[in-house]
Amino acid sequence: MVQGILIRLRRRSVLPYKLKRNLKENESLKNWTTIRTGGIAKFMFFPEDIEEILDIIHIAKRDGIKFYFLGNGSKVLFPDNNFDGIIINMRNFANLKMDGEMIEVSSGYSLQKLLKIAQDNGLTGMEGLIGIPATIGGALKMNAGSYGYEMGKVVEEVTILRNENVLNEKYKFIYRRGLNEGIYLKAKIKLEKSEKLEIEKRMNEFFSIKTKTQPINMPTFGSVFKNPEGFKAWELIKGANCDKIRIGDAAVSEIHSNFIVNLGNARTEEILEIIKIIKDKVYEKYNVMLEEEVNIVS
Ligand SMILES: Cc1cc2nc3c(=O)[nH]c(=O)nc-3n(C[C@H](O)[C@H](O)[C@H](O)COP(=O)(O)OP(=O)(O)OC[C@H]3O[C@@H](n4cnc5c(N)ncnc54)[C@H](O)[C@@H]3O)c2cc1C
Repeated sequence: MVQGILIRLRRRSVLPYKLKRNLKENESLKNWTTIRTGGIAKFMFFPEDIEEILDIIHIAKRDGIKFYFLGNGSKVLFPDNNFDGIIINMRNFANLKMDGEMIEVSSGYSLQKLLKIAQDNGLTGMEGLIGIPATIGGALKMNAGSYGYEMGKVVEEVTILRNENVLNEKYKFIYRRGLNEGIYLKAKIKLEKSEKLEIEKRMNEFFSIKTKTQPINMPTFGSVFKNPEGFKAWELIKGANCDKIRIGDAAVSEIHSNFIVNLGNARTEEILEIIKIIKDKVYEKYNVMLEEEVNIVS
């Protein structure tokens, strides 16, 4: 049945005209994820406004087509086989309004562009997020953070899409996870006035540390595992002698043992195998069960 619906969707006969222009077919997920793995997505839809998001969800639910929301693909691992549904790629849903120290930004907006705007306007509060290749939506979902900074410290309010209702609410978060149920559409971010040069200096310092301690120029998805309470995941991985594992073109990074890098043509299957070995060995040695930070799509 789903196959029939997909054929109809491919013919686009079920799509209103205004949605057709933003629909692409047979997109390789390798091109849309920073780790550069994954199969082919049958459809990829690039909404530009809330109505288009509501419309595509409505059609997908009505016709029983699975869908998945994607930001910049920097914390997601898709399977090697094809994704028989719609990837809702949020990158074109990207507006920003600034009013003094308050910034309202939609979820497809680039976090790094936002940091640049904050810096240019002498607004402090997000400097430690330099180098995180996220969209705002992905950063909210993950409560992205680094060097003592995190989304939760600056987000005042979020706009959420839940059960086809659009709601404004307080941002709820824990370590590396936004807890609001639904899809993040927008955020109101409150920063503070500060010296532009000081902001730039802090950002440069953090970026310099990041480039020395993380393989940021290689295909990765950032940290593989969350830090368990009282431990650093990279230390456990190293201590369990897992820092030199390589399977095919997937390998534990030589620079940071809580990163897995794609050395060329790595497959998701190989990355998952490494994740399993690390979890088993760390548990065996430390009695600590590591929890994946990366979102594994099945
Ligand atoms: C080189 C490198 C360095 C990194 N450094 C850091 C770091 O220092 N700190 C850190 O925290 N992370 C870091 N990361 C990881 C990653 O960038 C963050 O987790 C980021 O927040 C993911 O954002 P994204 O837009 O790429 O999300 P995606 O990977 O596209 O999606 C992540 C999850 O969020 C969901 N999602 C996406 N958009 C929405 C939305 N609008 N509403 C609801 N759910 C949504 C997706 O379905 C998925 O489950 C790094 C990654 C790389 C590659």
